[in-house]
Amino acid sequence: MKVLFLLTLFVVAIVLLYWATRLILAGMAWYRSRGARLVVCPETKAHASVHLDRTRAAASVLLGAPELRLCECSRWPERGQCGQPCLKQIESAPDGCLVKAMVERFYDGKSCALCHHPFESLDWYEHQPALMDERGRSVRWADVPAELLPHFLETYRPICWNCHVAETFRREHPQLVIERNYR
Ligand SMILES: [Zn+2]
Repeated sequence: MKVLFLLTLFVVAIVLLYWATRLILAGMAWYRSRGARLVVCPETKAHASVHLDRTRAAASVLLGAPELRLCECSRWPERGQCGQPCLKQIESAPDGCLVKAMVERFYDGKSCALCHHPFESLDWYEHQPALMDERGRSVRWADVPAELLPHFLETYRPICWNCHVAETFRREHPQLVIERNYR
């Protein structure tokens, strides 16, 4: 009787362990599926911003057949749904085509174009770095459409949060700014 009880306990523990592992893997799949991604649409050869279906990614891992599908694409509103052939790019890229990873590489080893303070660690919560065009107009990343990211990465310069705030204030309230030349 005691042997039977222990055997049952062992089987229950194995089953619980199996499903606990599956739940952890599903949670990891849900986490890894986060964020906007930039791909080249195989049909139009143009950049497109896409999002993975996180719920489906997690559920597919939980049920044993991992599968990635898109839930959003910047080209769908004008072109309609597609067969999602761009998923191969996401699966084969080391960074999963994540926009955030591309933006972080943009600052890697660089300094602010205005104050020359090096970008050692990026704060994406309170003091987000920004970028500046050739006319000196600063832009927040939140205002950059992901599908236009390559253009911004090629033609804009990196600036820090402090310089972005100062430049924005200077642009929006020029009457309150006094320029002093100390040279
Ligand atoms: Zn700066």
